[in-house]
Formats: sequence, structure tokens, C-alpha cells
Amino acid sequence: MSTTVETFAELGLSESLLKTLSEIGYETPSPIQAECIPILLEGHDLIGMAQTGTGKTAAFALPLMEQIDIKLAKPQALILTPTRELAIQVAEALQSYAKNLPGFHVLPIYGGQSYTIQLKQLSRGAHVIVGTPGRVMDHLERKTLNLDNLKTMVLDEADEMLRMGFIDDVEWILERTPPQHQTALFSATMPDQIRRVAQKYLVDPREIKIKSATATVAAIRQVYWQVSGMHKLDALTRILEVEEDFDAAIIFVRTKTATVELADKLSARGYAAAALNGDLNQQMRERVIEQLKSGALDIVIATDVAARGIDVPRVSHVVNYDIPYDTEAYVHRIGRTGRAGRTGNAILFVAPREIRMLRTIERATRSPISPLTLPSRADVTNKRVADFKEKVAGVLNAEGLDFFANIVSQIAEEHSVSAEEVAAALAMMAQEGKPLQIVGEDPRPAPPPPRDDRRPGVFGDRPERKPRFDERGERGERPARSEDRPRREERAPRPAPAGDMVRYRIDVGREHGVEVRDIVGAIANEAGIESRFIGRIGLYEDSSTVELPAGMPGEAANALKRTRIRGVPINLRPDEGRPGGGAAGGFTGERKFDGERKPAGGERKFNGDRSVFKKKIDR
Ligand code: AMP
Repeated sequence: MSTTVETFAELGLSESLLKTLSEIGYETPSPIQAECIPILLEGHDLIGMAQTGTGKTAAFALPLMEQIDIKLAKPQALILTPTRELAIQVAEALQSYAKNLPGFHVLPIYGGQSYTIQLKQLSRGAHVIVGTPGRVMDHLERKTLNLDNLKTMVLDEADEMLRMGFIDDVEWILERTPPQHQTALFSATMPDQIRRVAQKYLVDPREIKIKSATATVAAIRQVYWQVSGMHKLDALTRILEVEEDFDAAIIFVRTKTATVELADKLSARGYAAAALNGDLNQQMRERVIEQLKSGALDIVIATDVAARGIDVPRVSHVVNYDIPYDTEAYVHRIGRTGRAGRTGNAILFVAPREIRMLRTIERATRSPISPLTLPSRADVTNKRVADFKEKVAGVLNAEGLDFFANIVSQIAEEHSVSAEEVAAALAMMAQEGKPLQIVGEDPRPAPPPPRDDRRPGVFGDRPERKPRFDERGERGERPARSEDRPRREERAPRPAPAGDMVRYRIDVGREHGVEVRDIVGAIANEAGIESRFIGRIGLYEDSSTVELPAGMPGEAANALKRTRIRGVPINLRPDEGRPGGGAAGGFTGERKFDGERKPAGGERKFNGDRSVFKKKIDR
């Protein structure tokens, strides 16, 4: 770990938050937390260069919570996030840290959610607002959100907000916040425009960058599994079962609570497993390590701190069940295997949104980590059968076998069956409760993640949220405006999505300073339409056209009619002309995406995986 800070108490947090952190199982601050929390508690502005997975949410959330006056039921902190999913996630994190802060109220507000509900929630009084820029702007304009009591403002994933075309909105909001407040800006990268925003709106900011020092890793086989389609615990047991040369493993998780939970679950599945965490006293820790050495335990589930310095040569595998916060932690963790000249194996579980961290680790360690295909049912069965055969073969020459051979012959004779059938019955008895075959469906493998983490692909680094408009690199920068360029339809250089499309017109165009990405961002965020389903966009002087899949639900259409881009109501309506061969659909939503005719009175929404309209919108 890059920091010498061992406990949250050293960072100056209050007793009540320290109690909560201990209760939720946070043992030690992550590097970004160790660096940022004291600075923010001192009231400085801050630029934090950190990505998802580093613990950045707690890094800004904990200090801002220290400043909240619970008795004042007014927004005292505003956190801007690029997507509604992140807004919800951050709000949930704050709520969990507020376990011992009775009366604390955090409210996520985002596009697509009913205004009525939001207004009701706002009027009840929230201490912290977490919102997407468009919706926060709306509430500020309508004066339904008042920032007079603002103490802290956080821009989370600022580079993402830039990429999604929200940076003007962010600036608009920053200009309307009272001058006296602390501002923290978090961003994985620092493009010029973000740097400029920081220079303009932050006062003498401290800058924290999580070092990804180049580190070398010993000759350890490194693989990762992209978490998808199967619970991590099931994947873990499948992998461990099939891994060659498995002897013992250390499994790393983030919290003390998780060490105990996972140890219990693995024990229940028959593994000799135990937890190793900071709650154990020195004697108990040593005992666990001794048991791992002697073979009384095969698996130890540990937090980073508790596993520091473990040197047990029989550890053939290290599993990063939860991804580490930084490269240093990764290197330290995997250094627990491959000891005393033995071969080591390091397995990393990577949630899709953590792909960026995977790439950072690869870059810093200068060693590629290869994808691991989850063993199939057949693989596991084959391995179990092979082990079983080996075990049986091991007793073929055992003393006293004649006695049993005689019994087998007798059984065969008495029941008029072959010796083979008797052997099969015995094998079945021997394996009772330990089936050799596993039943059920194999999950479909996840699509390979992109290599370039700046463009993380459709399901790049945050699959639970909608894919971003520029993730597929389909809409490049808008061509430079040139006077002699004909004002004709500007088509984004991308194939139109499959299926029937309907062309709509909106009342914003170049004269409003609108760019293609603004339109995509607004439609994706406000109507819950996945950006990959947004078709060609024509940008004109005072209006624009946009192709959307036919069959838009009325709620989404209504939401879009009222959407604003750069403060201008877009008034979305079907355009006169129809794009090549596309069927008319308009707002009446008569067709499904796949062109099937819907049953009369059926729900106006697309089905299954191909659903383009994420949710029903109720305004
Ligand atoms: P973030 O980078 O903020 O998205 O956090 C990633 C994950 O790490 C979340 O699941 C947090 O709950 C978890 N986390 C953050 N800080 C700590 C900590 N100090 N100890 C254990 N888990 C943490």
C-alpha cells in the first residue's frame, strides 16, 4: 500500500462515522481515502485523480458528511454524477455511511424520474443531493432546488460528464452556486477542459493522484474472470475445482465482514476455509496462518492488512475476489503465491465497471493478465471423474482387496448382474453427497472487454448503466463549423441501428450551440433510451432531427417532449419525412423493435434483451 495510514481514526473522522465504518467492515482506508479525507476535512478544495474501485466515493462522502448540520433540513452538499445509475449508487453509499446519523437524508435526482416525486422529496428537505447535471439544472431553474446553504460541491467522474456532453451544464450549475463552499473534483483522467473547469471554479485546490508506480511481478500466472452470468461464489468454487496444481489459496476481499461471510460459505461447501482479518488478535492470526501451513486449512479469506507479509509456500493460488484499490495492493496480494521457487497463480475477479482498473494494473505491472474462461459443467465433471479414477486406481494394489473382490463376486452372482454393475453401485455409494456431475445451464461468457480503457466499449466499465454515446467511437467530434459548408443534414458516422426507425424533429440546432453529443446525451439520459439505439442525427441551424426506434412508449415520448437541451425545450415530435424505408410509429408505439405487430392494447414497450426503452417514465 502506498500509504502508511492504517486506520480511519488517524484521518480525523468523528466517532460516529468511525463506528459506522467498523460496522460495515471497512478495516483500513484505501490510499485515495487516506490522502483526500484529511484535506477535505481541513476545508480545502481538491482535485482527486482516481477511478472507480479506488474507494473515491467514501473519500469525498465521509468528509462532507462531517459538515452536515442535521437540524438544517436544506441541501448542504451537492454531488454531480454523469449517470443516474452512479447517482443512485453514490446516494446509497452515503446512506450506508449515515447508519449512525439519525435524521440524515440524501436524495438522488436524475432525468427520467417523475418530477412530482422529486418535488415532494425535495420539499421534505434533504441534506445531500446527488444528481445528474441536466436534472439538477432543471430544478435550479424552476427554483425547486435551493443551494443557499451549500457547503460542499462534488463533481464525480468529471471526465465522464465531459464525454457525455454535460460539461456546459456542470459549469452552468457551478456559476449558480454560492461562492462560499468547498469543491472537490474527481476524475479518472484530466483532459484540458476538466483542468480548465478546475482552474476556474476551484480555489487553491490540493491535487491527489493515486500513484500507479510501475512494479514488477514475479513469474506468476495471472488471469482474470470478468464477472457475469454467475455468482462470484459459484464461479470461485468452479475455478478452484478445476485449477491444476491447486494446493492452498488466499482469497482477498475488501471488508472484514466479507472475510467471515465467504469463509462460512466456503466451509459450508466443504472447503477447509477460515477468515483472517483485523478483528483477530495476533495469536488468532498466527494460528490461522499455522493451520494454512500445516494443511489443516486450504483456504484463507483475508483483507489486505491482515494478509500482509504472509509467507506460506504451499499457497498455490491467490484470488482477488474483490479487485484491489491500486496496483501496489495487487502486487502485494499476488506476492503471497509463487513463493520458495514454486509456481504461483493469481486469479482476479473483475466486474465490468472495473475493467479500467484491470488495465491500470496491467500497465503498471507491465504484464498482461489473460482472460479466464469459466470452466464449463463438462470441465468440472471431467475433472471430478479424473480425480475419482485416480483415487480408485490408487487402491487397486492395496492389501486386502481380494476380500472385497470376493464380496463383489458374491453380489454379482446373487443378483445375476455383472461385476461391472456391482462396481457402479459401489461407486455411486462412495460418491453419495459428492456428485461427479453438475447439472444446470452454463452461463453465456461475457463479451471480451476492450483493450483501450478510454473507450471502454458498449458494456465497458459500467454495464449496469446505459452505454454511453461515445463508447463505441461511433460519433466522433462534430466536424468544425465552416461557413462554406452546406447546411445539410449532418450524419453521425455510424451505422443506423437495426429495426424500424422513426425520425423526429426537435427545436434545438446549431444556433443554440447544440452538438450531436448533447442530443444523444439528453435523449439517453432523459428518456432512458440506450444510446446505441439512437440513430442518425441531423443538425440544422434552428432545429435538428433524430432517428429513434419505432414504438416509443408514451411515457418516454412525453418525457422527451419536455426535455431541454442547453436550456431550450426540445419539443420532440415526429418529423414529416421518414428515413429510408423505416415504418411510421410516432408516439403511438404500434410496432416493436423487431417489426412484429403488437397485440391490440399491448404494452408499448420493447421486449427482452432488445428493449431500448429502459424503463417506464412517469412524469
Ligand atoms: P468506489 O471506488 O468508491 O466505487 O468504491 C469501490 C468499493 O470499495 C465499494 O464497494 C466500497 O464499498 C468499497 N470500499 C471503499 N472504501 C473501502 C474501505 N476502506 N474498505 C473496504 N471497502 C471499501
